[in-house]
Amino acid sequence: MNASNPQDQVQELRRQLKSLLDAATANERKLDRFDALERRLIAVSSMEELVNLLLVDCRDDFGLDAAELWLLDLDEELRRALPALPMVKPPRLLDGHGPLKDLFGATRSTRLIGPGADEGLLALAFAPESGIKSAALLPLIRQGLLIGSLHFGSRDPERYDSSSGTKFLDRLAAIAAIAIESMLNRERLRRAGMTDGLTGVHNRRYFDHRSLIEFSQAVRHRYPLACLFLDIDHFKAINDRHGHPTGDEVLRQVGGLIQRSLRTGDLAARYGGEEFVVLLPRTDEAGAREVAERIRQMVQDAPFVTPEGGTVSATLSVGLAMLPVEATSFGDLLAAADRAVYEAKRRGRNCTVVDESPAA
Ligand code: GH3
Ligand code: MG
Ligand code: MG
Repeated sequence: MNASNPQDQVQELRRQLKSLLDAATANERKLDRFDALERRLIAVSSMEELVNLLLVDCRDDFGLDAAELWLLDLDEELRRALPALPMVKPPRLLDGHGPLKDLFGATRSTRLIGPGADEGLLALAFAPESGIKSAALLPLIRQGLLIGSLHFGSRDPERYDSSSGTKFLDRLAAIAAIAIESMLNRERLRRAGMTDGLTGVHNRRYFDHRSLIEFSQAVRHRYPLACLFLDIDHFKAINDRHGHPTGDEVLRQVGGLIQRSLRTGDLAARYGGEEFVVLLPRTDEAGAREVAERIRQMVQDAPFVTPEGGTVSATLSVGLAMLPVEATSFGDLLAAADRAVYEAKRRGRNCTVVDESPAA
């Protein structure tokens, strides 16, 4: 091109103007997309909706090939809460800071990985089979702490470029972090209302509600429902001999053992003092007896660690009742399990007794 030729200059200016207009239009579209996403993030009403929005909708709306969410879960709170929630793709839960440090180092700012950039980071942030060639890694920060990260990936190596600005992504990360924190707080509150503060298993209030639903479903669909009543033996003596804090610790550990022996869909609750109740839907008597004996055996074998670092032992008496019994209400099933525990105590404790009421 001859720069002194006026016609060429006009053409060149037109070209520049068009490219500026194209960029402005693309930016406006991008802004609209981010704006719509941010509005939805602010409006989500549940953890599963939030995760689905970040991982599925973001990926589809932005035409990406992969989206990943990592969340720090130092006290395993999320590990316990999330499996019950219906999610298309669950987040990865981190039990330490290591993986986030590997991604962000000390900078804690959004990282764009484009052509020629560190391929090792891509391998950390995405599954190797995903074929991701460029990515945006967004740190999620609340109150100065890194609480997780959000990763957007593309198989197009040019999609993200480390020299591009990150203003939109930074803003999205900030809003996503606020949405995640507020959802976690809401989930904590919801669980606190249903959970026994000492043992972390469900409380009586939740059990009373869920048991009615389980009972009516088992009756309607004619499947078996097993009810276990578990009572710690001579618990008063444990308190008297080792002190109340040790008694509390035994309760906490027994609650944990019971919880870990169950499948999803089973229900465990602290019924009162040193008594737990378990419901096993779709489980026949032989299966329920196996569960009862497994729990009883584990408690018998466990050295319970006291707050002072010593150990004490404990045993359980278990009563088992099955639906169908001559039960017209859930209360009848529970009363049958309670009778069976009483019989277990009478027989010398540390055993499982099946209620012998005649079946209906
Ligand atoms: P049994 O073998 O017949 O069941 O005897 P037991 O001593 O376990 O039963 P009992 O009902 O006589 O005593 C239950 C004790 O549990 C009395 C109560 O002080 C204690 N307890 C109830 N709730 C708690 C609690 O939250 N923490 C502690 N440490 N003790 C509790
Ligand atoms: Mg008792
Ligand atoms: Mg007892």
